[in-house]
Amino acid sequence: MIKLPKEVIVLIKKFKDSKFQIYVVGGAVRDALLNKPVDNWDFTTNATPEQIQKLFPDSFYNNIYGTVSIPMVKASHASPLQKSIVFEITPFRTESNYSDSRHPEKIEWAKTVEEDLSRRDFTINAIAYDGSKIFDPYGGQIDLNNKLIKAVGEPDKRFNEDALRLLRAIRFTSRLGFLIEENTLKSIQKNAELITKISGERIRDEFLKILTSDFPSEGILFLKTTGLLKYILPEVDACFSIQQKSPMRHHIYDVGTHLVMALKNCPSSDPITRFATLIHDIGKAKTFHKDEKTELITFHNHEVVGKRQAEIIADRFKLSNKQKDKLVTLVAEHQFTVSETQTDKAVRRFIRSVTKEYLYDMLDLRTADRIGSGATPTSWRTELFKKRLEEVQKQPFSIKDLKIDGNDVMKILKIKPGRQVGEILQKLFDQVVEGKIKNEKDSLIKQVTSID
Ligand code: ATP
Ligand code: MG
Repeated sequence: MIKLPKEVIVLIKKFKDSKFQIYVVGGAVRDALLNKPVDNWDFTTNATPEQIQKLFPDSFYNNIYGTVSIPMVKASHASPLQKSIVFEITPFRTESNYSDSRHPEKIEWAKTVEEDLSRRDFTINAIAYDGSKIFDPYGGQIDLNNKLIKAVGEPDKRFNEDALRLLRAIRFTSRLGFLIEENTLKSIQKNAELITKISGERIRDEFLKILTSDFPSEGILFLKTTGLLKYILPEVDACFSIQQKSPMRHHIYDVGTHLVMALKNCPSSDPITRFATLIHDIGKAKTFHKDEKTELITFHNHEVVGKRQAEIIADRFKLSNKQKDKLVTLVAEHQFTVSETQTDKAVRRFIRSVTKEYLYDMLDLRTADRIGSGATPTSWRTELFKKRLEEVQKQPFSIKDLKIDGNDVMKILKIKPGRQVGEILQKLFDQVVEGKIKNEKDSLIKQVTSID
């Protein structure tokens, strides 16, 4: 059966002692039955929020869903930082009267757990456990065994009630490596356009979960085959009809397939680096050019066009400024040249435009790009380039990084502020970069007096 942690058993007992019904429900039951670690324990009960608060005086209740949060001390904890855990208890609910495919007009309490389970999205999420017995009126355990995502009840009706469920279905397939049951899949295809009713924030949350799942590329292919991609990322959808095989070129896939293959092979687990990997070549759909005589296909400036598209996508997905900056930078800079013969100056310029912060994400994107084009993960040239990046980063990047400043120069030479100070610092900087002197205070001080 399901093994419950001690604090969950304590909580269940407290409800039962007061003659209330209480069930673990949703993702916790699903993940426990799959032998996956559970980090969120959600419960449902016939107790009202007021009754729950009486049972647990330090609980808090402040949302429109009727959910009461109960902080519990953990019996055993992996790290000392994780001493407590918050359990969410939501009284039995039904949902009715969706008129906008977004929000139920009003939330009504339900009388039984069966009724509560009927409002849940997929059968694998509609299983309840009371500590000794499993309640599974929709056959969720069978679907868990068959690795299927299946809507509870009539799929068309359920997706019309809340269109976010269209994306949630894809999220669970890519997270669990499941397929979508036939009627549910047909219904998603039929109702895909409803996703346009959902806010950017809600789409973003589900989409980033798809990207960080174990099977993100399968998720994107499901979005493509269900028709959802056309609505949420038309820029990527368009890439599947852009060919790039041409004489003298290394490409083996169309642009869309290449993007999916790159994502599949992205070594980073960071959501924005994965996002950037998925969209890095979207500019190609707008810059496609095929020479009639040579049949050579080119995509001039696709990274410039892609950068603008990335900005639009970031805004549509309501990314934070920080996330947007990262996404746009990675897309804009992805065409960087890897060459062991580049001057330090050129390497420094590259680091400055990617920024040190995103440097290793940029390299991860390049690795993904290579594998996603059918190439080996790296090359001797790339490895040499990485060494150059390390070396150049040890050098100062600007005058500001020198271990000496204008005040030192003025003191040593007994001069007043002015152009001369800046010129001396610049000369010192150049000498450090050229490797003539070390960026250490002593050697810099000595050098100041010998600069004319
Ligand atoms: P995760 O592990 O990602 O949190 P989860 O299944 O717990 O997965 P939540 O979004 O936390 O997902 O939702 C908890 C439960 O609430 C779900 O298992 C499902 O039963 C129900 N649920 C959540 N969102 C919806 C929805 N839009 N429509 C119907 N039921 C939903
Ligand atoms: Mg959850």
